[in-house]
Amino acid sequence: MNRARVRARGLYNNMTEKVPPIERLEASFLTSSPDLKHCPQDDCPEVAFAGRSNAGKSSVLNTITNNRKMAKVSKTPGRTQLLNFFDIAQGGRLVDLPGYGYAKAGRAAQAKWQQSVNHYLSNRDNLVGLVLVMDIRHPNQAFDQEILGWAEASQLPAHVLLNKADKLSYSKQQQTLNRFAHSYRTHNYFSAQIFSALKNTGKQDLINKILDWMGP
Ligand code: GDP
Repeated sequence: MNRARVRARGLYNNMTEKVPPIERLEASFLTSSPDLKHCPQDDCPEVAFAGRSNAGKSSVLNTITNNRKMAKVSKTPGRTQLLNFFDIAQGGRLVDLPGYGYAKAGRAAQAKWQQSVNHYLSNRDNLVGLVLVMDIRHPNQAFDQEILGWAEASQLPAHVLLNKADKLSYSKQQQTLNRFAHSYRTHNYFSAQIFSALKNTGKQDLINKILDWMGP
């Protein structure tokens, strides 16, 4: 066989051996917890999801798991103020944190939420990353800034989703992403991407990011 054909065969073999991307995280509900003390054992890596209420956190979780029931579990009355844990078949866990700024929650409930979430984020040893969901039309609100500042100080990788991108033109999306990334350019543990739970935009990038954080 001539060299060109050997090279071509090598290339072909490499291509066939290439591992296909994981296109969905297979998640199953594990448990809910009101606080750190009642969390499941910290024996596998966890990626937490946070965001202002209505930014689309549940829709994002449904999208990456291809499972409409997933976030519904977290929205079940009585569970909205809890930390909800999901095992993923590929290994590791996703943790759906209560939505911040839920209009119907009273001040006392909000304060309690903040305390248990802060406590979880600050003390959970197996937490490997935080996905922060924002509405691309209203990014970087006070709570978002606070949590990103805190993640940087704690050396916890934070990945921002500028969700509902379908609501803006492509050039507006890019403009918002660039402006946003520029304001966090000095952060070492920060990344951001465009996302649309409605259109599946950015889904593969997010799954790759999560799997990357979780390690082999
Ligand atoms: P959560 O409160 O953060 O969990 O938000 P939800 O996932 O319940 O979404 C709030 C609203 O935004 C719902 O009406 C969703 O259908 C809508 N929504 C979520 N993601 C998207 C998106 O990417 N594009 C559009 N157009 N609407 C979205």
